[in-house]
Amino acid sequence: MTADARSDLPAAARLGVLGWPVAHSRSPAMQNAALQELGLTGWRYQLLPVPPEAFTETVRALGAAGLLGANVTIPHKEAALALATTATERATAIGAANTLTFDAASGTIHADNTDAPGFIAALPQRPVAGSTALVLGAGGSARAIVHALLEQDVIVEIWNRTPERAAALVRDLGGRAVDQAHPADLLVNCTAAGLEHASSVFEGLPLTADDLGTYATVVDLVYRPGGTEFLAAARSRGSTVVDGLQMLVQQGALSLEAWTGLPAPADVMLAAALRSSLPPTHELRSSPSATRRSPRN
Ligand code: NAP
Repeated sequence: MTADARSDLPAAARLGVLGWPVAHSRSPAMQNAALQELGLTGWRYQLLPVPPEAFTETVRALGAAGLLGANVTIPHKEAALALATTATERATAIGAANTLTFDAASGTIHADNTDAPGFIAALPQRPVAGSTALVLGAGGSARAIVHALLEQDVIVEIWNRTPERAAALVRDLGGRAVDQAHPADLLVNCTAAGLEHASSVFEGLPLTADDLGTYATVVDLVYRPGGTEFLAAARSRGSTVVDGLQMLVQQGALSLEAWTGLPAPADVMLAAALRSSLPPTHELRSSPSATRRSPRN
């Protein structure tokens, strides 16, 4: 970072993550660690729990209340895009925003979606044009992933439990809806299958644990301390695996760069996110289920 870039920044600023519920978010831990590493000692990143019925009114007032920027998580990503004054092309195409930037002077709110480039940054290497991907799911995160992959000229197939939703995603963004899992270079799980009962993940999906070995790289957007059953199955069958925490860190790093103009310390953010995912040591000692905490972002 140059002294010039830093001197343009306010000495103190407030950032946060909007969600409902949001208490378990790892974003404050990783963003505050990054702010400290960047020497922005007067900056703070906080939880912003806002229920859906109060979202638009509350967020419109945040800029005037001194907030510089906010991440947005479930269930507010579509509402965040809808209330923004301006939005990037990708947020508009995806139909959701996870990053808001407030300009108190003009009263404007700018929306972006860093889930899409954050996903690409989390991969071990940028996907090659003409390679193939199978995306499981057609919810908000699947839309960001499909958009990101199509931008890289990847050939994308989309499977979803509710086929009509996959068809709607394809109509909006492109790719091809499928009713079974075909082999591909990359497999991305964007579903909430297995969230309630980790061992039941394959019951909701069109493939078995043994099928995972046919995908060179397997990504699970879901993150769970100790790893998910889905990724454990892929790893044991020889696939390269990427967990959801990597994407969480990369999308957060891109948001922080947008707010500060400074390169974000992704390694510091990952270490802080990992630390914040660990249960307290007394829980680890006393509870065999301590590693099965809710895999919330
Ligand atoms: P969403 O919009 O609610 O979509 C949920 C998706 O999961 C839908 O496709 C849904 O299918 C499918 N699904 C739910 N339960 C299922 C089951 N039992 N079997 C099969 N499919 C099932 O949620 P989202 O925002 O896309 O998030 C999906 C997951 O990704 C969540 O676990 C979230 O925590 C995680 N995520 C991680 C990151 C990250 O940075 N790592 C970012 C965003 C999201 P139907 O359409 O049939 O209901």
